[in-house]
Amino acid sequence: MNPNLEKSLDQRLKQELPPPLSQAIPALGRMGEKLGLRVFLVGGFVRDLLLHRQILDIDIAVEGREGAARLALGFSRQEKILVQGYPHFGTATLHLPGNYRIDLATTRKETYPAPAALPRVRPGNIHEDLYRRDFTINSLALCLHPSEFGKMLDPFGGCLDLKRRRLRVLHPRSFSDDPTRIFRALRFEQRLGFRLAPDNLLLIRKALAANAISRLSGTRLLAEIKFSLSLPETAPLLARMGRLRILAGIDPSLKFGPETARVTRSLQKSLQWFGTAAGAGNFPGFEPWVANLIALTANLPEKKLEHFVARLAPSAKVRKKIAWDRTRGKMAREMLEANPRMKKSLIFSQLHQFPPEAILFLEAQTQKEPARKALRFFLHGQAFTKPETDGQDLKRLGIPPGPLYREILARLRDLKMNGETRTKKQELEWVRKQYGPHLRNHH
Ligand code: ATP
Repeated sequence: MNPNLEKSLDQRLKQELPPPLSQAIPALGRMGEKLGLRVFLVGGFVRDLLLHRQILDIDIAVEGREGAARLALGFSRQEKILVQGYPHFGTATLHLPGNYRIDLATTRKETYPAPAALPRVRPGNIHEDLYRRDFTINSLALCLHPSEFGKMLDPFGGCLDLKRRRLRVLHPRSFSDDPTRIFRALRFEQRLGFRLAPDNLLLIRKALAANAISRLSGTRLLAEIKFSLSLPETAPLLARMGRLRILAGIDPSLKFGPETARVTRSLQKSLQWFGTAAGAGNFPGFEPWVANLIALTANLPEKKLEHFVARLAPSAKVRKKIAWDRTRGKMAREMLEANPRMKKSLIFSQLHQFPPEAILFLEAQTQKEPARKALRFFLHGQAFTKPETDGQDLKRLGIPPGPLYREILARLRDLKMNGETRTKKQELEWVRKQYGPHLRNHH
């Protein structure tokens, strides 16, 4: 890795970014010079550029009073593009042609009035702005000022840590100041394939011993849990959170034993499968992280689960899913395991009461292939088939409209699902036979 980008930044930008962005970035540096502002690329951008990873967000820090707003305004006038300002936060977003965006923020410093509280924010210089960040690898800046274009600011040894694939906070109080960094650290470990420095593991242990996580608000904790359970690497992440006693720091009753390890690993594959399954569209509200949360809390006693959910205070929809009927779920799974040739319509009647996330959990949990197949049949959405016949057809047959229609159509769906009928003709024949007495012109 070559951290010295003074000669090559322009070239690298052209290699890694589409033209509207690779042109806008140096232009922002020039505009900054005109306005007397110092402009830097910061955060994940610099890290990912040096790691040759795909760049997702473009974050620019602007040093100078109301720097972000002034730079954004100047640039949007010059280029005739849209800008959105958030003066209260000292940030602005530029919207470039092609649906690209660049986020600008005025450099600031942060102090923590109390551990785990939200920080107090004041204007600060670029050094202070880098010092408020989480890890050394995220505390690098690249200067965009024309006379120093591509100069790297690396006050905390981030380049060396990138080379050694190591995560390190900037000061010993960092994890207690903001315990969400504990979660961020573990996610970066998995996503980047990095490791926390050994002394940083000790810092996490110290923060946990001081109950750092319990001081986080439910909303912030929920957000971290949601991110952590949404990764393709969630299974190894959870295993590490178990080993480092971070799960216990979230809630002492959360255990990560071998069975949870097996199920979360299996669930990871199931989620991948489900993401590409033809029937996934039948479950529009499906949330992968909820499936992982269901697996993580599968063995919590009822009261403890309630306590845990109350602490996170999720939306009513998520709350309802987590509180699914686990006893009946277990019964359904055992029934499928014991009767591999169960009729499809019976499988449907067993499963449709559960949230799809719970069904995927059961699918990951079972070790019996036929039961897994049955659960996948449901998740494939084949179970949501509709009969060929509709209400109009029943009316034409002379059946008086009423609640009976629902029953007939449901039974027709079951027949189709089980492969007992294939055509509309067969369905209508079946209706005539079964419901003859209801036909108006039967006699
Ligand atoms: P990615 O977008 O790939 O997840 P990122 O580093 O851009 O990585 P963001 O969450 O977008 O992550 O944060 C942007 C930058 O803001 C980070 O690089 C980091 O410098 C800083 N940051 C984010 N969260 C924190 C935090 N809790 N404490 C300190 N700095 C943070």
